[in-house]
Amino acid sequence: MRLSHHYVVPHVSTGDMLRAAEKSGSDFGMKAKESMDSGELLSDEIIMEMVAERLAESDVVARGFILDGCPRTTHQAEVLAALLAPQTLDLTVDIEVPTAQVMRRLAGRRVCVDCGANYSVSTPPKVNWLCDVCGGEVKQRKDDTEDAIRRRLELYERQTAPLIEWYEGRNQLARVNGIGPPDAVLRRIIRSIEDRRNRGRR
Ligand code: AMP
Repeated sequence: MRLSHHYVVPHVSTGDMLRAAEKSGSDFGMKAKESMDSGELLSDEIIMEMVAERLAESDVVARGFILDGCPRTTHQAEVLAALLAPQTLDLTVDIEVPTAQVMRRLAGRRVCVDCGANYSVSTPPKVNWLCDVCGGEVKQRKDDTEDAIRRRLELYERQTAPLIEWYEGRNQLARVNGIGPPDAVLRRIIRSIEDRRNRGRR
C-alpha cells in the first residue's frame, strides 16, 4: 500500500480483492472466505481470472501496477507472464523475514475492516481500536489465528518459495531485508527498485 503511494501506481492486492468480494456477500465472496479463513489458497484459475480483469482496467494500463499477494504458485507466475507478454515484470521483491518473526507479526497484526490500514497490538490506533485514517473498526483478521498462520506458512514453503528461484533465474528478483520497522523496510524496497532502474539505464 505504502509503496503504491510512493510511486503513485495502483496497488493490486489479491487478498484485498477477495476480502472486498467477501464483504459484498456474493456467492464468490462467501466461497473465498472459506478458503481464506482456513489459510488455504484459492485455485490458480480463479485468482488469475480476477487478476487478468484488474490488469485490463484503465488506471493500471495507464500507470502500471504493484501486485501484492500474487503470484503464489509457479503456475500463477506463468499465467502472469503470458498475460503481460510481450512486456515483462520490472521486478519482484522478496522481503526476507525469519519465520518466527513472521509468526509474531501476523499474530499481533490488527487491520481496519474498512480501509485495510495495518496496526499491531504494540502499535494500536490512537483511539479505542478505531482506525486513525478512516475511523473504521480495527480487528484481527480471521486468518491471523495460530492454526491458519501455520497453514499459510506451510503452503508458502511448498508453493510460493520456489518462485524465488524462478524469478532469480529470469533476473527479475530483488531480495530485501524485512527486519525492522515498516519505514525502514519501505526505504530498502525503494532503494532496491531505484538501483535496478539505474542499472537498466546504464
Ligand atoms: P493476503 O491478504 O495476501 O495475505 O491473502 C489472504 C488470503 O487470500 C490467502 O491466505 C489466500 O487464502 C487468498 N489469496 C490471496 N492471494 C492469493 C493467490 N495469489 N493465490 C491463492 N490464494 C490467494
